[in-house]
Amino acid sequence: MAAEVASVVAAFGALSTADQDKVREALLHGDKGNAAVDNAGAKPRGKIQAMSAEVVDSNPYSRLMALQRMGIVANYQDIRSFTVAIVGMGGVGSVAAEMLTRCGIGRLLLYDYDTVELANMNRLFFRPEHVGMTKTDAAAKTLAEINPDVELESFTSNITTVDGFEGFVRSLTQAPLGFQAEPPLPGGPVRGKGSRVDLVLSCVDNYEARMTINQACNELGQPWMESGVSEDAVSGHIQLLLPGETACFACVPPLVVASGIDERTLKREGVCAASLPTTMGMVAGLLVQNSLKYLLRFGTVSRYLGYNALADFFPTMEMRPNVQCDNAACRARQAEYAALAPEREAAARAAQAAAAAVEEPQVVHADNEWGIAVEEGDGEGAAAGGSGQQSGSTEAAPALPDGIQYLMAKRDEVDESTLAELAVGRTDTSLDDLQKQLDALNSGP
Ligand SMILES: [Zn+2]
Repeated sequence: MAAEVASVVAAFGALSTADQDKVREALLHGDKGNAAVDNAGAKPRGKIQAMSAEVVDSNPYSRLMALQRMGIVANYQDIRSFTVAIVGMGGVGSVAAEMLTRCGIGRLLLYDYDTVELANMNRLFFRPEHVGMTKTDAAAKTLAEINPDVELESFTSNITTVDGFEGFVRSLTQAPLGFQAEPPLPGGPVRGKGSRVDLVLSCVDNYEARMTINQACNELGQPWMESGVSEDAVSGHIQLLLPGETACFACVPPLVVASGIDERTLKREGVCAASLPTTMGMVAGLLVQNSLKYLLRFGTVSRYLGYNALADFFPTMEMRPNVQCDNAACRARQAEYAALAPEREAAARAAQAAAAAVEEPQVVHADNEWGIAVEEGDGEGAAAGGSGQQSGSTEAAPALPDGIQYLMAKRDEVDESTLAELAVGRTDTSLDDLQKQLDALNSGP
């Protein structure tokens, strides 16, 4: 009997989420089923060869490709050439994986060693029917249903062990049997030495795992992003780490580690960290937004962005590498980066010269399909402005209709009487006396 139950449970677990819903519905309401539920189980779609911008309800990419038409992203379909590794399928990693999957990322490598538990249900992504499955398997299954175009590789291993670390580095450089490595996009983001991955996202919840990712990325020179949520669930951060160029994770150790306290001794039986789906979702959103900007080259890529939920405060900062960093691979990457400084400066100068050469004279008025024309103003209004500012505050005020006048003097037209009224006259009072007068005013009644 136990074996039969086990085989039924296994068969149930292998069904798609939609089919599991149907089985539950049949068990609850008899096998008559329910029309709404039957319709909800949409057929999985086939792979789409090329992303299209066509605006039809059946195109899963129309709203993403619209970013091109809106002038935000130059080539959205480049996203298909990127490989992103996500380490940790917890409250941040699983949501980040779903976001990248819905954005149509080319390939995702998923890492975790844990299984889904009911205690994870206060966060997004995982569902009660995933309980007992490994997080990587449950994630890969759900993500494949959401977007079958994304190539998924899952690694159920603990990267902090010696074997786990070697396997992690190997997985970043070599595709496992049956999988392919995407070539890097020409002119795209720089990959680490021999790496097949454009970006590694750290979504782990402990220092040891972060240091392991740091070590692997420092050795390879692999760009990565760190994310974290505080134990009290009300703050978080993301950080971009470019080996040699920005601080590595060991350059500025957290206070608890710098103080020589073992993180594991902080954990007590029956006490767990707090977590909120809101903070986790915010941090996952910030992490993937920064990843999209980094990969697709738009906007400003944050080096460090914090999130304080209690004050709605988002601090940003630059973190330069520590020349005395404990990590030898970090120091080696710093030396390489410094050696390439003349090359970078020459490239920057060339880019500046090229930009200056193509700078077109400012078009005051061009023909346009709406027939909108800019006409000469009737006098003073046209003379001012031209400073390039969008705000009208620096321009001369427009002429007013008859019978209406400004309450205050216009900034460029203060008359003599106003000047005389507001003028500060000379005084013979000594500086000490003036200071006493000021103190008396400040001391209040
Ligand atoms: Zn370092």
